[in-house]
Amino acid sequence: MNTRFPPLFVSHGAPSMIIEDCPTRDFLLQLGMKLGTPRGIVAVSAHWTTTEPRVTMHPQPATLHDFGGFPDELYTLSYPAPGNPLLAERVLSLLHAQGIAGEKDMSRGYDHGAWAPLMLMYPEANIPVIQLSVQPHRGAEHHLAMGKALQPLSEEGVLILASGSTTHNIRDFFGRELNSPPLPYAEEFALWVKDAVTHGRIDDLLNYAGIAPHAKLNHPTPEHFIPLFVALGAGGSGLRIHDAFTYGALSMAAFIWE
Ligand code: ZN
Repeated sequence: MNTRFPPLFVSHGAPSMIIEDCPTRDFLLQLGMKLGTPRGIVAVSAHWTTTEPRVTMHPQPATLHDFGGFPDELYTLSYPAPGNPLLAERVLSLLHAQGIAGEKDMSRGYDHGAWAPLMLMYPEANIPVIQLSVQPHRGAEHHLAMGKALQPLSEEGVLILASGSTTHNIRDFFGRELNSPPLPYAEEFALWVKDAVTHGRIDDLLNYAGIAPHAKLNHPTPEHFIPLFVALGAGGSGLRIHDAFTYGALSMAAFIWE
């Protein structure tokens, strides 16, 4: 019997979040236990951007340390979860059925947008994971459509894990401390997102770049916000399940669509 698994959006923050004592680390450590075990995971990370959607086909993806300037310990971590070529094929067929192009990627490993939250949520790394790339140049509507196409997976007990950042001004991240107070422009945007998600204001979210307060300041480039639209498109009633800030500029808010 299949049980629906609600889609999620998590803010992954700086990779050092995995080893830093902060509320988001605690939240993610609890989250996997609270949600239970999905049949598989489709991770949609801000850190894999491509021209057309791509899915990972490798049966045992490598762990990519796709960041620089962080503590040495982070470069020794690996997340040995298996891939799942059959799940990847299913993702492609669901996309194709809705007229969305998609390609196989035979070699890509897990980037930290995927493995950092998963390492905390599911530390045993025994649930198969595939990654689906994002196309920042194609905007919010395209990612909402991808989420709608993948809705059947959610109904079949697969976790759609969108991973980005509710706010993401990297210029203001640098020079701040883990516990620096939230920047007002970031707080304002994060609150707007929470209201729009929890009230189901999908059109407003789609138009966030034009109408949300300080949208361009919070997302000078869109890749960390658009994964949210994949989870949103997969359906359900939106709820904020975590709210915190790191480094003043990074809202760590997480949302679930029950
Ligand atoms: Zn990131």
